[in-house]
Amino acid sequence: MAYRAVNPYNGELIKEFPAATDAEVEQALTATEAFYQQAKQQPLEQRAKQLAALANEFTQKTDYYAKFLTTNMGKLINDARGEVQKTAAFANYYVEHGAAALADQDYTAIAGRKAHLEFSSIGAIVAVEPWNFPYTQVMRVFAPNFILGNPVILKHASIVPECAQAFEDACQAAGLPAGAFKNLFATYDQVNRMISDPRVQGVALTGSEKAGERIAAEAGHNLKKSTMELGGTDVCIVLNDADLKKAVAGAVNGRLRNSGQVCTSAKRYLVQSGIYDEFLAAIKEEFAKYQPGDPLDEKTTLAPLSSKSAQQNLQTQIKAVLAGGAKVLWGDPTPVTGPGAFFMPLIITGMTYDNPMYDHELFGPVAQIYQVEDESQIVELANHSNYGLGGAIYSEDLDKARQLASKIETGQIAVNQPLSSLPELPFGGIKKSGYGRELSDLGIREFANIKTVLG
Ligand code: NAP
Repeated sequence: MAYRAVNPYNGELIKEFPAATDAEVEQALTATEAFYQQAKQQPLEQRAKQLAALANEFTQKTDYYAKFLTTNMGKLINDARGEVQKTAAFANYYVEHGAAALADQDYTAIAGRKAHLEFSSIGAIVAVEPWNFPYTQVMRVFAPNFILGNPVILKHASIVPECAQAFEDACQAAGLPAGAFKNLFATYDQVNRMISDPRVQGVALTGSEKAGERIAAEAGHNLKKSTMELGGTDVCIVLNDADLKKAVAGAVNGRLRNSGQVCTSAKRYLVQSGIYDEFLAAIKEEFAKYQPGDPLDEKTTLAPLSSKSAQQNLQTQIKAVLAGGAKVLWGDPTPVTGPGAFFMPLIITGMTYDNPMYDHELFGPVAQIYQVEDESQIVELANHSNYGLGGAIYSEDLDKARQLASKIETGQIAVNQPLSSLPELPFGGIKKSGYGRELSDLGIREFANIKTVLG
């Protein structure tokens, strides 16, 4: 398996990394086991200080770490800086709140008998991560597990090897103990073997449905705990009484940020008839402002997709979407040629349940729009999906918006703002968007031994 950093803006090969050897996999397992045993003897506060040092490393060298995001997967440089800052924020959340989330919890009301829960480490966790947020995705798994005392072995996406290496370098620069974090340029086979190794007690995957099926099966086969953070076809619901400006800003940012390559992107706009024409006109105007360019140039607004294969895959999907009866309402679906992996924004209409692509995630700057009438139609359309990850609702009537939010089958939903992941809030999906929760107090307990002590 090739781990290659290729700049998606110009197609140039930056660096290739050799795949991990089996001996390196064994070394990583030995080192992580040693960390696991050693961390049990040490106070959590020691790890909190070390994690704070890691956050500081990212904060102090934001530009240095940001550049790898831009050159490996094409993220706009300002967004890349934002991701580095958010990576530090995720770590700092667990520095400040990890201990409280892991404090013993009393269960005193059981027939007058005392009981409490303890939260403790279980062993190494394998983290299989995607390229779209190469640092934050890793930190979401690493920070809580490190505080808990679980070491993490990373298998990152093969197109962002410099980011994977940079994360490990940051851990070393911050003085984290050996074995707490190990990046491996592992093959799928090596990942499977690690999952079956008794020193590994869990696997966290963020990625596609297909990868989820494979990794969850492997985890199940070995009776290992797993969390699955997979794809989505999130709705952005705009009710007649929405503040148009807020809804348009949220819908555009929600769909075009990271060139549309976000699991919780606003992939389906469901817009009520009374505001539909105005909304559509404003969206077209905003989409037209996005211009492709070098993502290292701060003035560029539309970054390339992460790779040529992502571009080709989306082109193939759009062909199938149109062959299935949907239409382009705005934009030019002609494939962009040249070395850059660009894909120009599109607005698609006429997507019907019988379109073979209806339940497929389109991972790029493609919005689907639906004109809807009443709440029952909105709920039926929103929930007619194999996925259930995120969503957003725009309405000036907050009670109505929250009542509607309760009816949407999803793991999280935002009102009058695009959905974004915050360290304090649980993040995860239902249906084929996966299971388990990251971030917050729930995230740190996913791979904890929740031990009941009676008496
Ligand atoms: P992907 O192709 O599934 O890859 C994700 C990771 O899984 C990569 O490291 C990949 O390695 C690895 N992988 C895939 N198949 C594997 C197997 N059989 N055994 C071991 N490892 C395997 O997904 P992607 O294209 O990188 O990421 C986009 C997807 O992630 C989208 O569906 C998006 O919605 C989802 N996502 C979800 C969340 C969330 O929190 N729910 C967040 C971000 C992204 P290679 O690169 O070597 O193939």
